[in-house]
Amino acid sequence: MIQPAIQARPLWERIPLYLQIVMALILAVGFGILLGAGQPRPENVALINNLAIPSNVVLKALRALATPLILLAVLHSFLTAPGTAGSRLAGLLLTNTTVAIIIGILVANVVQPGRWGAISLPSAPSEISPLDPWKLFQDLVPDAVLKPLVDNNVIQLILLALAFGIALRGLKAEQIAQGKTDYRAIEQGISMLFEAVIRILHWVIVLVPLAVFGIVAKTIALQGFTPFKSLAAFVLTVLVALFLQVCYYLLRVKFGSWVSPQRLLTGCSDALLMAFSTSSSIAAMPVTYEALQEKVGLRESSASLGALVGSNFNHDGTALYEAMSALFVAQVIGVNLSLPQQVTVVLTSILASVGAAGIPEAGLVTMTLVFSAVGLPVEYIVLLIAVDWFLDRCRTAINVMGDMTVSCLLDGKDRPKEVE
Ligand code: ASP
Repeated sequence: MIQPAIQARPLWERIPLYLQIVMALILAVGFGILLGAGQPRPENVALINNLAIPSNVVLKALRALATPLILLAVLHSFLTAPGTAGSRLAGLLLTNTTVAIIIGILVANVVQPGRWGAISLPSAPSEISPLDPWKLFQDLVPDAVLKPLVDNNVIQLILLALAFGIALRGLKAEQIAQGKTDYRAIEQGISMLFEAVIRILHWVIVLVPLAVFGIVAKTIALQGFTPFKSLAAFVLTVLVALFLQVCYYLLRVKFGSWVSPQRLLTGCSDALLMAFSTSSSIAAMPVTYEALQEKVGLRESSASLGALVGSNFNHDGTALYEAMSALFVAQVIGVNLSLPQQVTVVLTSILASVGAAGIPEAGLVTMTLVFSAVGLPVEYIVLLIAVDWFLDRCRTAINVMGDMTVSCLLDGKDRPKEVE
């Protein structure tokens, strides 16, 4: 019975997104060469410039969805995550994410992928704002409750989301203790809105192959292949940084828990593959949870804290990627981010990764907010879309490995009796 329904879906819906993007890339290379490969004929320039329209539309939609997505993801997690996460969990999550970002920033500063080939701007850049840490501190509190939503201000938004999340969680606990159920209406409302935003995000993602085609064809037509040297260098640099993060996890697990690195790697292979193939740590969560309990042999409480809470809040791979993207774009446009600006990148990347939902492309959505915080031109994000389909898979696998590492560390150095 299911077969005819699948058959009835239009052809493009049956082709996985990553294949659509690869096809769009191949077509774009051909079209870009046809249109001049760096030496366009003047009569074609108007047409070439219009090729950027789909990617601009996609970018605007992603920016518009970023704030509701973060707000609802945080509220949803606070209302539905099990038990009290505890300060130890919070400490572990924060340390791992900070290490991830520092690795990302170090590797990006050493390799400097943005200087490997010039990329000229898809459209006029916004001004790079000078950074004043005291102003940043004062600006933590929004002037009005809805202002962070309108201004796309990630720091204020997360603060707002955390405040409401903590308040709602407290109210829910009180009501449960009193046998009341009023909280259910708001919990269901938030779940429903969260799903609605994710559904709209999927509609936007359907347009991504078209956006990739347009922006890549335009770039090749106007600038030839030079910009792609930088992008290829960027992809490799991110992979190196993610690999270093894996080494960090394995060392942490070796010295901080009873689990051996080999046991973790064998135990997590299914979850990592699931994360890589779905680009979603939430989709991989049931497999992660089961692998932690059944294959690695952790206690139920450690497995559920790491996998369930982690997949909602802990996105080390995303944090590393957002910070590296900001540095990459700064290098591309020849701007040296000062130390306080790099610190802002660290802070906003932590917040943006906490706010990123564990779904495909969420990191790309929240990245617009990191860029805005340090005044980098968000227009460059459209170029990253061309490689994001692949990097999303890699960072999702790291997100899941981060959750598993936290679970092992929570389980401690004493092996559970039944595993011995
Ligand atoms: N896709 C990632 C995840 O599900 C989030 C991201 O886009 O970085 O964990």
